[in-house]
Amino acid sequence: MNLELSEEQSAVRRLARDFVEREVVPHATAWDRAEEVDRGIVKKLGDLGFLGLTIDERYGGCGGDHLAYCLVTEELGRGDSSVRGIVSVSLGLVAKTVAAWGSEEQKRTWLPGLTSGTYVGCFGLTEPGTGSDAGNLSTRAVRDGDDYVVNGTKMFITNGTWADVVLLFARSTDAPGHKGVSAFLVPADTPGLTRRTLHGKLGLRGQATAELVLEDVRVPASAMLAPEGKGFSVAMSALAKGRMSVAAGCVGIAQAALDAAVRYAGEREQFGKTIAHHQLVQELISDIAVDVDAARLLTWRVADLIDRGQPFAVESSKAKLFASEAAVRAANNALQVYGGYGYIDEYPAGKLLRDARVMTLYEGTSQIQKLVIGRALTGVSAF
Ligand code: FAD
Repeated sequence: MNLELSEEQSAVRRLARDFVEREVVPHATAWDRAEEVDRGIVKKLGDLGFLGLTIDERYGGCGGDHLAYCLVTEELGRGDSSVRGIVSVSLGLVAKTVAAWGSEEQKRTWLPGLTSGTYVGCFGLTEPGTGSDAGNLSTRAVRDGDDYVVNGTKMFITNGTWADVVLLFARSTDAPGHKGVSAFLVPADTPGLTRRTLHGKLGLRGQATAELVLEDVRVPASAMLAPEGKGFSVAMSALAKGRMSVAAGCVGIAQAALDAAVRYAGEREQFGKTIAHHQLVQELISDIAVDVDAARLLTWRVADLIDRGQPFAVESSKAKLFASEAAVRAANNALQVYGGYGYIDEYPAGKLLRDARVMTLYEGTSQIQKLVIGRALTGVSAF
């Protein structure tokens, strides 16, 4: 693997870094306190091409490889994980999945809007009763003439109240387990679909996380993405790439923690010298630095495998597992460097820690990633 960035990749990273410094960092604390990111950010992300990375230019994307996608995601995660999540879901889980599995008509209907930021997408898999065991979901889609009629509830859906289109997973046949699950592209304004924002989250407070309730929602059969019964494969393939995006966002959190800890250690004085002079403070900082590098290298390896057309799902689980745990450690260490000031939100460490914590939970908890890795190594499924 070549670890040197190409000129194009470096330029994309610079563009993302400048954008984040200008448009995200100055507002992140206010958005966190208000529990809402300014929605205008979506159009700005679209205008810069960040919502169309890796998507074919024919559908409004700007091409680009997965390493460039990781670089942008890392920079967004460094500035504000709530903003990063908009891209990871609308592009990473929805647009990329439509591009991979959609019919020509579905691609033409949804991709130009999603890549430009005119539309926001959300990914409706989790339900109140099924999280880790997603293949066991109970939302039902019953065939009625040329339509399906959908009933059920989806929980914890990122971008949920903002979304224009829901990539929805529902049971459409009586085949056992995940074999009966199909995927649908459902316009969010379809009658019978109601949404409720979930307030009081520990982190990612700026993000529109929602519960979706579907009561007799009628969708045409043409809204099905991929063949009937393939919905679980669609979800798992989306999440395999999605985990790389989460990992890249975690690298951004850990990098922000490192930058903040180094800066503060050079300013704060105790015992007659800056705290950077104290060996145990240097230990905290060096631990963060090693976590940043290790997480970044694991994440870049996934991007490299995808771009070379190699199998990557297990490596993606490893990267997501390590990077999410590393981001929590890094933010916690940074908070320690800040002492009491780390505990109030005028300083960045507390928000980084709150935002990092969910990364070990969503798109498969740390335990689920270990089961994916363990299954690949032993040949035994221990779910
Ligand atoms: P459970 O599955 O009930 O797990 C509880 C505990 O049991 C965990 O520690 C878990 O690791 C453990 N456990 C479960 N099964 C096993 C096992 N076999 N072996 C060992 N341990 C096990 N979902 C979406 O579909 N779309 C979204 O956009 C989305 N965004 C989210 C945003 C936020 C802020 C949050 C908090 C969640 C989001 N989710 C989303 C849902 C998320 O993916 C789930 O919360 C996650 O998969 C875990 O499911 P659960 O919460 O039901 O926990």
